[in-house]
Order: sequence, then structure tokens, then C-alpha cells
Amino acid sequence: MQLDFLTLLATTAISLFLISASLPLIMGRNISAAARYVQATLLLQAMAWVAIIVSNFAPTPLSDRVISTVSIGCGMAAQWMNYRALAGWLGPRPWPRLFQVLAVAAPLGYFLGFDSYAFRVGWANILLAAVTLLVARAALWPQLPAEAGWRRLVFASMLTMAGLTLARGVLGAFTDQYPHFSTPHPVNLAFALAACVTVALNTIALLVAWRDEAEFKLRELAVTDPLTGLPNRRGFEERAQAMLAHARRHELPLTALMLDLDHFKQVNDLHGHEVGDHALELFARLLKDTRRNGDLAARLGGEEFCLLLHDDAAAGVPLDQRLRQRLQQAAPAELGLALDFSAGMATLRPDDTGILPLLARADAALYEAKTAGRGRLCSAAPIRS
Ligand code: GH3
Ligand code: MG
Ligand code: MG
Repeated sequence: MQLDFLTLLATTAISLFLISASLPLIMGRNISAAARYVQATLLLQAMAWVAIIVSNFAPTPLSDRVISTVSIGCGMAAQWMNYRALAGWLGPRPWPRLFQVLAVAAPLGYFLGFDSYAFRVGWANILLAAVTLLVARAALWPQLPAEAGWRRLVFASMLTMAGLTLARGVLGAFTDQYPHFSTPHPVNLAFALAACVTVALNTIALLVAWRDEAEFKLRELAVTDPLTGLPNRRGFEERAQAMLAHARRHELPLTALMLDLDHFKQVNDLHGHEVGDHALELFARLLKDTRRNGDLAARLGGEEFCLLLHDDAAAGVPLDQRLRQRLQQAAPAELGLALDFSAGMATLRPDDTGILPLLARADAALYEAKTAGRGRLCSAAPIRS
């Protein structure tokens, strides 16, 4: 079997062009920045390969120098886009400054030192290997709790490419075994073959990452109330379960406050549904501002909200007061009407079988607050302070 270096690279470039042309058709226009970065990566990588192939047929040394430098620049930009995509999906990645410095230094040094073959091949390949390693690292670390197979795929293909690129750089800079860009040295052929194969693997990884992203967004939507941005009942129950487990494990108290806006039907009836919605948003905002770190606030439905605290009932009283005060100030100013709420509070008991008995007691206390005249906090048990 005869493997030809230029044919392999040309095939890779064609694949990359075709994939970057078809991805927007598959993924549509409305995609995240991360997905867009990956599309840019594919296009830039294709351009890098085309430029380096074309440079072989450059008519003058200067045009060879310029076109080859463009290729190095595109290759570096492609890896930078890769890195940005990973940061978009996985959060900030380590060493962005170092990455940028290497990405600028590679084409610059290559252009300036073009006259020495050993220097330019060593310089460009070693720096390219370094940024490819940074991409590989960024794919796996720092790790998130939810581990995904696509990240290992990116890691493996980037590590392979980095190793072969480094080997090319070392061969070109320090030996005479790699005298020309398309020399059929086994390392060079393995490099071209790996470039070809990693296109397919990285495309798979991209599509899986993109699907994960869509799944995550869908999950977020399913547990979030769109009007207020607070967790909805489902989101509340999931997080409340986690807080309950935490409370049990560390023997922490757990207090639930059930909050319900008073005479809210009248707000809608007298001022319209839009003002009603605005009032719900305002109340949610005040709730977010008033709760402390670690407290869980949620909209359980309609005009009913819940707060869950890792604290005993004594902490619920000032919290209720602060919220009440803020609402009394903000509602007339923002809505042009007075708004108040009733609240019922309960604390976790050792014999509670789950979160539901706790909520039921808070609900009963809320009912008590309503029947006692509204605009107040009632507790399911006497408060010890
Ligand atoms: P109470 O003091 O006894 O709680 O009286 P209330 O009028 O607040 O209670 P009720 O349960 O009778 O009415 C709740 C109202 O909340 C009825 C419904 O129109 C309104 N509501 C529920 N969800 C929304 C919403 O998303 N937007 C708006 N604008 N109103 C809502
Ligand atoms: Mg109400
Ligand atoms: Mg209600």
C-alpha cells in the first residue's frame, strides 16, 4: 500500500470543508457560541491544510513564505477556537494567556525565521504541539462532576496529534530525516493519517457535545419557572431532596417557609394580568435578594413560593420580616399598589420520612396565617430563640 502525504492532507482538507459546509445545515443558525467556535475550528483547519499544500507550488520564495505563514496562523487560530469552544461548554479552561502568546509567536517566528528550514519546522511544529497539548488538557481538566465520553475522545485525538506534531518538529529541527514538508517519513505519514482520522473523531465528539448541551438546556427549562427564573416545583423537589440528605448527614436543622401572596386574585382583577405577572417577578426578585447563600427559593406554582433554609425556625422570623419590609417599600413604587403575603413555617423533625411532611406542616401553618387575617407569619411549632 502506498500512502502519499499530500493526497492524505488534501483528503483531510476536503473532508473538513465538506463538514464545515454541512454542519450549519444540520445544526441550524440558532447555536451556542461554543458550537460556532467548533465550526470555525473546522474551517480554519481546512484552510491551514490547503495553504500548506498550495505553498508547495508557490512560484517565488516570498509567496512560499507568506502562504506557509498563513497556514501556520490558521492552524494556531483553529486550535484557539477549539480551546474557546471547550471553555464555552466546560467553563474557563487553564492557561488562556499562554495559549494566546504561543498562537501569536508561532506564525511570527515562522515568518521571521523562514530562511532556516530547521528553525521554521522546529519552531512551528513544537509550538503547534504545545497548543494542541493545551487543548487536550482543556478537554479533560478541570473535571466536572458529570463525566462525558466525548471529552476523552477529544483528549485522545489531541494527544495523538500533539505527539506526532512534536515528532515532526524534532525530526525537522535536529535531524536530516525530514528534509521536506511532504517527505514520506513514517512519522510524517502517521501525522497525515492521524489528521485524517481525528477529523472524523472530533466531528463525532462535537455532535455529542452539542447534544449534551441541548439536553442540559432542556433539563434546565424543565426545572425552572420561566416568569421568575426561580426553580419550579420539580426543581425545588430535586434540590430539597439534596438539602434534606445534607441536613441528615451533617445533623443540620432544616426550615421551610411557605409563602403565598395575599388577595392576589384581586391584583389581577383590578390591575390586569400583566401587573400581576410583574408583581410575581418583583416578589421573586426580593426573595432572591433576601435569602442567604445556600438557601433554596422556589416558585411552587401560582402565587405560592417556598424558602428552605439550613437553619432553625428562629432564623425564619427575621428573614420573613426583611422580606415583608422590602415588599412594602418596593410594591407601591414599582407596581403602584400595596402587596403583602402570608407565611407558614415548619422545621424538620427526626421522624419526618421525607421533605413532604415538612412542607405539609408549613402549608398548615400558612393556612393558619391566612385564617388569622393574612399578612403574617405562623409557625407549626413554638419558636425557641
Ligand atoms: P389568598 O389571600 O387567600 O391567597 O387569596 P388569593 O386571591 O391570593 O388566592 P387565590 O388562590 O384565590 O388566587 C390566586 C390567584 O393567583 C389566581 C390566579 O389568577 C393568580 N395567578 C396564579 N398564577 C399567576 C400568574 O402566573 N400570573 C398572574 N398574573 N396571576 C397568577
Ligand atoms: Mg394568595
Ligand atoms: Mg395561593
